Amino acid sequence: MHACLPYVAGVTDKLKKTLSKKNIGVRFRTVKKIQQVLSSNKDPVHRLLTKGVYELKCTCGKSYIGQTGRSIQCRIKEHQRHIRLGNIDKSAIAEHVHTNENHKIDYENIRVLDKTTRYYPRIIRESLEIMKNNNNFNREDGYRLSNTWRLAIPRTSDLECHGQPSSTDVQPNIAEPRYTG
Ligand SMILES: [Zn+2]
Repeated sequence: MHACLPYVAGVTDKLKKTLSKKNIGVRFRTVKKIQQVLSSNKDPVHRLLTKGVYELKCTCGKSYIGQTGRSIQCRIKEHQRHIRLGNIDKSAIAEHVHTNENHKIDYENIRVLDKTTRYYPRIIRESLEIMKNNNNFNREDGYRLSNTWRLAIPRTSDLECHGQPSSTDVQPNIAEPRYTG
């Protein structure tokens, strides 16, 4: 079995080790450099009109990493509404801002980490970014990570992968030979 992962320095290597213990091979897929993904700040609204993975920074230096299948702009408006209404159960960002005095989200510097539109590559990229960034206030990362990998690994065909197709997914059932007489 093979998993095709976006390469994130320092993170994917560790995963490769863990996965190889479970006999899962790893192929790397090139990920655009952050500089390539981040279009210039000249058009801050337009660059958020994409699906993908984003990072919001708080004034305390911690960040929140999220992903959305709608536009990032739309998702951020939703976070802002939760903050305004104090819906701390619905948004980790609202919880962070409401439970820590004088913390504010810096909406001027929203980072677009990936513009992957497909679901699995997107949640995997989000998980990798959460793992990579220890200074985050995402609250369900442990749960999300284990579930992401459990869900994502058997369905590598969903990932954008240009390597050879994995034969294990389509391996025919070979019946045990029967001995009669
Ligand atoms: Zn903060």
